[in-house]
Amino acid sequence: MDRNKKKAALWRKQNCRECKRDLSGEMPIKRATEVLIFAAAAKNFSRTRIYTGITKFCEGVFYLKNHVISLQSHIKMLCETIGARPTGSAKNKAAVEYAFETCQKCGLPVRKQEFDCMDWINSGAALLVDNRDIPVEPAEYSLPCDVTAEFICIDTVDALRKAELSEKIAVLHGDLCKEPLMPKNFEFYNPDEHKQIIALLEEKNPTAIITAISGKEHTIQDGDFNIPCAVVCSDMLDVFSQSSDGRAKLTINTERIPVKAHNVIATYGTKNDKVCFSAHIDTKPATPGALDNASGVSALLAFAESLSGKHYPFQIEIVLFNGEDYYSNPGEMAFMSGLSTDYILAVNVDGIGLKNSATSVSFYSCSKIIENRIMERVEKTTGIERIEPWPMGDHMIFATYGVPTIAITASDIFGLIDTVLHSSDDNTENIDMDVLNNAVRFLSCCVNG
Ligand SMILES: [Zn+2]
Repeated sequence: MDRNKKKAALWRKQNCRECKRDLSGEMPIKRATEVLIFAAAAKNFSRTRIYTGITKFCEGVFYLKNHVISLQSHIKMLCETIGARPTGSAKNKAAVEYAFETCQKCGLPVRKQEFDCMDWINSGAALLVDNRDIPVEPAEYSLPCDVTAEFICIDTVDALRKAELSEKIAVLHGDLCKEPLMPKNFEFYNPDEHKQIIALLEEKNPTAIITAISGKEHTIQDGDFNIPCAVVCSDMLDVFSQSSDGRAKLTINTERIPVKAHNVIATYGTKNDKVCFSAHIDTKPATPGALDNASGVSALLAFAESLSGKHYPFQIEIVLFNGEDYYSNPGEMAFMSGLSTDYILAVNVDGIGLKNSATSVSFYSCSKIIENRIMERVEKTTGIERIEPWPMGDHMIFATYGVPTIAITASDIFGLIDTVLHSSDDNTENIDMDVLNNAVRFLSCCVNG
């Protein structure tokens, strides 16, 4: 599947709310968080107050002391001592505790914002076709099963509509697996074709589903979808078409456990206006998540450690979201439900510190005044550059709400989306501590000078 084409199809044009100029980005509405906030946008935000707040930024550039040692220990703790930290898991809890305690040690008031989610336990899957073991894995968030049944291969919506699937295993491929289907309860953005496929599957109620995909992103990733689902590589389709008896034995060893998880929210200062610095602390299930996003969390923890003794004409809020890589973004939804109207600027950090890459800044819902002020800092900091807006990530939470927002990421991260990110290859080898340190210094510049 061409992920970029899919993204392009989702994007929509957006003009600056202030000057109406083309932001040159086309923004997609993909995530519930983005769309829900968008729906509520334009409520309660006083543009005058935003400008006044932003012009209150003090002049003069302040340079952080070198935070390399601190960054190294945060990255090591998150990626190596803790490791993969999907929302709801014990390791996610450990990462949240670590970040919470680090903020406490800096003397910042810090709280945990609780929400419901599930801990999805994946103990693997097995598939036998013609007594041959076929490599298979559970679809993310799938229910378990242990079934032996006739299978039917289906590649189009039309074929799905005509299929009789009761007591059978549906092997989906081709058109039906060309892109990930939006989770069924994702009402804010959910293309008709996705809804139709999910509705047909639920109506036909196969005993299990196998999706044959060529990339790594599962077609069905939905904790609210209750037909057990496994994933094979599309190279394996011949095994099904050439099977002598048309039957398969599928075992999926998974468990959904209802749990609570938390965002971490720390503050510095007591002013009414707020500048928010955010990064997501969760990962996909099978990755140490160094770039995505131990780097961003470590940067914000180092930033928190640098705040003591500083004075700002606004409150600094540090938010570690917990759910960017979880199917329903529960941490983001919890945060958004109580979103205050006091933000004069939001800075989201995701995927920084990449070796041999500049660090990039992009602007969303920002006035020219804000852009110019931040660009002055960009020009004063080597290794930082401006890029076009990109639409996938937690910065959209604020941007679609009309809060002036900046996204910070590695300029070259986009080439790693389909390869390194969300895989075991997203490890500490990819991080250059000097690049990361420089990014932290830039964060500080954004509010200091
Ligand atoms: Zn991320």
